[in-house]
Amino acid sequence: MSTQITFADLALAEPLLRAITEAGYTQPTPIQAQAIPQVLKGGDLLAAAQTGTGKTAGFTLPILHLLLQRPIAQQRPGRPRVLILTPTRELTAQVEESVQTYGKHTPIRSMVMFGGVNINPQITALKKPLDILVATPGRLLDHLGQRTIDLSGVEILVLDEADRMLDMGFIRDIRKVLAALPKQRQNLLFSATFSDEIRTLARGVLNNPGEVSVTPRNTASERVHQTVHMVEQIHKRDLISHIIRESGWHQVLVFTRTKHGANRLAEKLVKDGLSAAAIHGNKSQAARTRALEGFKQGKVAVLVATDIAARGLDIDQLPQVVNFELPNVPEDYVHRIGRTGRAGATGSAVSLVDPSEIKLLRAIENLIKKPIERLPVTGWTPAPRSAAQIAEDAADAQREAGRSGRGALGNGRPSGART
Ligand code: AMP
Repeated sequence: MSTQITFADLALAEPLLRAITEAGYTQPTPIQAQAIPQVLKGGDLLAAAQTGTGKTAGFTLPILHLLLQRPIAQQRPGRPRVLILTPTRELTAQVEESVQTYGKHTPIRSMVMFGGVNINPQITALKKPLDILVATPGRLLDHLGQRTIDLSGVEILVLDEADRMLDMGFIRDIRKVLAALPKQRQNLLFSATFSDEIRTLARGVLNNPGEVSVTPRNTASERVHQTVHMVEQIHKRDLISHIIRESGWHQVLVFTRTKHGANRLAEKLVKDGLSAAAIHGNKSQAARTRALEGFKQGKVAVLVATDIAARGLDIDQLPQVVNFELPNVPEDYVHRIGRTGRAGATGSAVSLVDPSEIKLLRAIENLIKKPIERLPVTGWTPAPRSAAQIAEDAADAQREAGRSGRGALGNGRPSGART
């Protein structure tokens, strides 16, 4: 639903819409599309959302709107209408900056308050009227103790990153602040996680809340269906050709460790009747562009690339990725498979693993924290190799050994040769 909704659909006041346009936002994020209407209705809200989801605008925008709709004749100094509690000084500053950004065409006044700095400038600032106070709990309690702040006019309370506030031991401070607030108010609670402690807090603070939740986009290793075929290096070309022809893949990106390996594989695939092209640092820019365009348009079914060549390619969301060899660096594996898997759909990644690559495979499984399924290859047996092929493979192995200094599939970090 969030893909269709615009900020104008959310019926926010014109000065806010103008500020949103100026901020360069064209569409509400999913948390905004869900949270803004709920907050505008005036009810309490329990929101599951992490930083990076746009949650800050998800509460500041509707709060600014509500304040504009409910002006009061004269606001007393040091008596905010909205209290936003956050765990850290940085977050406090960020949230208040959002209030300033979205509220820049409104007369709404905000203030930031955190500990670790001289309290006197804050006391001076509190002598002026104030609409929105963004504070950390500890310093707010200091002000309450000194009666330099009056929380009796709070209409809306926000607990932002509530889980972090509890982790940081603020629960008692929060309870003391709650006791200083009027009973009748709107409460919004944002948290990335929902422990029992958060639920208890939510039950005590929120009154019949609406609930919204956005989950972070799954990581590539969760999204992508991954399998391994154990196969000797010298049989990999044959096998991949077989797999591609059998499964009818029409858009597959194959990663090889070397430029030479990319060329040899592409040649083999073409010989077997597949439309394939290699792309790497030794190819001219024109040849690379041609191969890439052909691939994007579906004329080239198989693009064979080295990691570094692939890095510059503006292609992702592929249905299929193949690791002809595993990368030396486990993180490269995650980048490779991250090329596949459209939003909502799963992609798949097949790795051909020679017994000498087992260590690399284990390092990858450690990184992604799960085993990758080993699948037997059905309907294929390694073809007998001609004398010429054997000689060529031996020359390749030699070349590889010279490159890494550790045998055909050494475990070294990437060398300059990996382009
Ligand atoms: P937050 O999760 O609130 O920390 O926001 C993460 C980032 O997303 C911030 O840099 C915001 O400026 C940005 N942002 C918030 N809402 C939108 C939107 N609707 N479109 C694009 N960027 C946004």
